[in-house]
Amino acid sequence: MAPQPCVLLKHGEIAIKGRNRGTFERHLLRNLTRAVTEVDPRVHVERRSGVAVLTTSGPIDELVERAREVIGISVVQPGVRVSKDPEDAARAAVRMLRERFGGDVRRFAIRARRRDKGFRMTSSQVAAHIGQHVCDRLGWPVDLDDPEVEVVVEVDWREIFVSVEHLRGQGGLPVGCSGHALSLLSGGYDSPVAAYRMMRRGLRCDFVHFTGAPFTGPSSTYKAYALVRRLSRFQADSRLHVVPVGKAQRALATAGAGQLQIVAQRRLFVRVADELARRLGARALITGDSLGQVSSQTLSNMATTEQASSLPMLRPLVSWDKEEIIAEARRIGTYDISVLPDEDCCSLIMPPHVATRTTTEQLSKVETRVGVDDLVSQVLSNVQVMEVEGASAPVASCEAVTR
Ligand code: ATP
Ligand code: MG
Repeated sequence: MAPQPCVLLKHGEIAIKGRNRGTFERHLLRNLTRAVTEVDPRVHVERRSGVAVLTTSGPIDELVERAREVIGISVVQPGVRVSKDPEDAARAAVRMLRERFGGDVRRFAIRARRRDKGFRMTSSQVAAHIGQHVCDRLGWPVDLDDPEVEVVVEVDWREIFVSVEHLRGQGGLPVGCSGHALSLLSGGYDSPVAAYRMMRRGLRCDFVHFTGAPFTGPSSTYKAYALVRRLSRFQADSRLHVVPVGKAQRALATAGAGQLQIVAQRRLFVRVADELARRLGARALITGDSLGQVSSQTLSNMATTEQASSLPMLRPLVSWDKEEIIAEARRIGTYDISVLPDEDCCSLIMPPHVATRTTTEQLSKVETRVGVDDLVSQVLSNVQVMEVEGASAPVASCEAVTR
């Protein structure tokens, strides 16, 4: 068997989730296959215990980058597969080290493991054998405690895998294995990061974006669309529901919401999202709230907002600082979209003072005056749905991991 380029993928958390393992693996394999066939229709995806292997007759660089975006994969190892012969593995190791490091000398270690426990050599014998070969051919010194380069050798049932590069993947739980939620997506920094963090806990997301139409232009919708497109790198085929609320916002203002305007609007968003989620079969709402970040995100206002929802409201960023959120937005590639200017519906009607302490009683009075149930029905009759496919752009700063 001639050495064949391949990519070895390890899924971290699945390994410890004994009971639900089958479901997790099924979702991961489906998401992975979908993602990698997008970049290379010839790719072959093979499943092993705790590992998936990608092989192709084409180049593997793009496959490597795409696999690093698949949630649930924690380590991505480009390498080669050779026949089940340590000599072949040793030759492959030397060839890959030469290609990658030229004539440089590095301290190295071979890390060998066997999935086939019946193999005629133990893991340490395999490591010693290949290590000796590398010393002889390249003159590199062995350093098992603090190596500059680690060569991973995995003896499998039918072949041996050799790799000299270990890249970090997204980690987390495969999208879909925890169910389905509706993400409230503005054009800001926070909500796309919040959606991503919940995707990483296995939730498939639908998205809803509220616009101030007909009193604002389409810029915030363009941004929301671009954000969903970016986030669709992490889950295939997303849906964005665009909901014009300008008239409903005015109605709240006319009903005398005053200082309660922002929280009243937030409760309206939540009521609409709650009903939309039920129609879609989503079991939770996701927002980008972070405690104390702005006046609408005090504990009191979060509580009154939450009371308008019958579904759990997930706020993964509740404890995050703005700097942490921005750093994550850069890493997942949403920052460059969120930074663009837009006409945000929340700033359409800004009272001079936003109440930081609100009660359900106060808000109920405004909602009774405005006839909130009818308002929700009216708003829901104007929802526009967009089907969104993923946009390509490499995810930044997935650094190499040293194991
Ligand atoms: P973001 O950066 O996500 O816009 P923010 O710090 O601007 O958040 P708020 O404007 O108070 O905070 O919004 C809090 C959350 O409410 C957002 O994270 C988002 O989940 C939801 N939200 C706000 N505006 C909209 C909108 N126009 N469409 C959909 N959801 C929204
Ligand atoms: Mg906002």
